[in-house]
Amino acid sequence: MLCAGLLMTLYVSLQVKQSLDAEASRRFALVSDQVSIKIRDRLDAYALILRGAAGLFSISQNVDRNEWRAYVETLRAHLTVPGVQGIGFSKVIEPRDLPRHVVAVRTEGFPEYTVRPAGDRDLYTSIIYLEPFRDRNLRAFGFDMFSEPIRRAAMEFARDSGEASLSGKVALVQETGRDVQAGTLMYFPVYRKGAPLHTQEQRRAALIGWSYSPYRMKDLMTGILAEWNGGHGNSVDLHIYDGLHSEPAALLFDNRESEHIANAPSSRHQRRVVEFNGRQWLLTLDPTENLSYLAAWSTLMGGLTLSGLLFWLMRSVINTGMNANRIALKLTQEIQQYADQLKIIFALSPDGMVTFDDQHRVQYVNPAFTQLTGLAPDAVLAQSDSEFSRQMARLCLPGAGLPALSTIDGTGPITRHVIELDNASHGVLEVALRESLAPGVSHILFLRDITLETEVDRMKSEFLSTAAHELRTPMASIYGFSEVLLTQELDPASSKEFLSIIFKQSELMASILNELLDLARIEARRGKDFVFENIPVFALVDKVVHEFKLPAGRAAPILINPDAPLSILADLKKAQQALLNVLSNAYKYSLTDTTVRIELLDSPPDASTAPVVGISITDQGIGMTPAQQARVFERFYRVDKSGKIPGTGLGMSIVHEIVELHHGRIELSSTLGVGTTITLWLPAAI
Ligand code: ATP
Ligand code: MG
Repeated sequence: MLCAGLLMTLYVSLQVKQSLDAEASRRFALVSDQVSIKIRDRLDAYALILRGAAGLFSISQNVDRNEWRAYVETLRAHLTVPGVQGIGFSKVIEPRDLPRHVVAVRTEGFPEYTVRPAGDRDLYTSIIYLEPFRDRNLRAFGFDMFSEPIRRAAMEFARDSGEASLSGKVALVQETGRDVQAGTLMYFPVYRKGAPLHTQEQRRAALIGWSYSPYRMKDLMTGILAEWNGGHGNSVDLHIYDGLHSEPAALLFDNRESEHIANAPSSRHQRRVVEFNGRQWLLTLDPTENLSYLAAWSTLMGGLTLSGLLFWLMRSVINTGMNANRIALKLTQEIQQYADQLKIIFALSPDGMVTFDDQHRVQYVNPAFTQLTGLAPDAVLAQSDSEFSRQMARLCLPGAGLPALSTIDGTGPITRHVIELDNASHGVLEVALRESLAPGVSHILFLRDITLETEVDRMKSEFLSTAAHELRTPMASIYGFSEVLLTQELDPASSKEFLSIIFKQSELMASILNELLDLARIEARRGKDFVFENIPVFALVDKVVHEFKLPAGRAAPILINPDAPLSILADLKKAQQALLNVLSNAYKYSLTDTTVRIELLDSPPDASTAPVVGISITDQGIGMTPAQQARVFERFYRVDKSGKIPGTGLGMSIVHEIVELHHGRIELSSTLGVGTTITLWLPAAI
């Protein structure tokens, strides 16, 4: 656009310049015409004056000096017509009449008079009258102009044609030597009164002289130009040449001669030819003032400014557009990013999410929803909310389904509903419905898996009741026996027996409480209070076995591979506790006539892991199903909740915590009704 604007400006400016040039040329051509017409008019006016002077001779053949003077003074030509040196009469003198003529003029009172230049010629002419007859004009008195070829040519032309004629460039005899100017002369033939003038011969024969005027070119033209210039000032450089060629020798007039200006022809140069009865003057005209291109410059500057402004405007418009685009793109990208993030969040969220569109139809379900409910997106997408509620209700246990969504108020504080799924894992989900602010989405349904929390809650309360139950049994014994001791007088043997019961029950209570405290402490300390040391495994097992109080009627465990030189890096107390818990289970969950074996194992030949030492305890007890095995380490988990076998469900949890904090692992293999083997792998001592 800028380029186009600049080119256009340039083009228009050039056009303006050209039209200025053309207009100026046209005007200058007009001026040139006027100048040439003026010159021509002036020459015609001179010719008329001379014709009038010649006319005098048609009245009287012998016009004397006084009559001539009177005529010229009447004309006052020298006043009204500047540049005219005078108006004279040159008389034709036959050689034979010359002496008489000279005498006649001398007798008029001009004793010095003679016809110049002297010499014999076929014909003489003499300027006998020249008014005003004074000053430099006196120098012409008696001059034979016919003796000089340039003048003679003009004189002959006038004589032969009967018209006024103009001479070529001459130096006037009037010139005094100062301010010499090119001169020219105009002649008009004077014929004898009454003579026939039809042919050239007749005119030659009838000729008696010429009325004539000498002109100093500069004076003459200055007059013309002064008149013409009027208000224009000296705005024309005018050259006048005698003839048609602009040669210096032929230069008649240069109006700026004194200024010595190099006259290189300008673009507005004009040439005119003024023709006067066979004589041609070449006029060359040049303007002296440079053309003002203000309009073109203004156009150029205006155009440039306009183009610049337009360019700036367009640029800012385009920039604004581009900025808007950039911002839009950035926003789009950001929105896209958010959308992507949301998608990822939705996809990775462990919570199920279902969105409903404006028509309350299922719009989207995330993978977690499918995972939680087992419903593939295709099964629910585009369902109405009531259909969706019904489908969800079918998945749930009777009475634990989702209420109709339309009855849930999603605008107020979020109300959470708990539903229980009728599937293998008995999942418990917390469901919340929320009205959406996003366009195109009416509601969002959130589903959170709270199976574990529910189970933990359940187990906790179960534990509390179990623990309370476990604590209450010894507590009841302590309470009962101590009351008896306080209220009754007993023999020492009975008292001792009662006291020992109280002691044992207290011991049991203490052990339950200790177990609880242990677990709480282990959990809280995360192994920070562990003191690791190298412990020979056999010594450890031996100590635990000896300290373990065998249930009545049970044989001590059989030790296999007791001599293996194995040591572990462990906290002695904790390792004992873990081992004890496993050993107690082995006895607790097996029948009286079965055996319990303890085997010491070396690290399995696997170089990729750090060396470990295994303590494996095998019973021939009730065993566990795979599902039970999976939950053995859960806190408060007990397969048999009837309470027939005392316990809190914390023992294996404590084992698990301890082994984990030792960076070891537990291996469990069990078959229902056959028996169980639990192996504790602990890091070998270095
Ligand atoms: P306590 O806290 O007194 O040890 P507990 O023995 O019931 O109580 P855990 O030792 O944690 O608790 O055992 C959890 C459950 O795992 C037991 O109730 C039992 O049902 C099962 N279990 C553990 N060891 C065995 C085993 N060797 N054979 C069969 N079942 C077992
Ligand atoms: Mg136990």
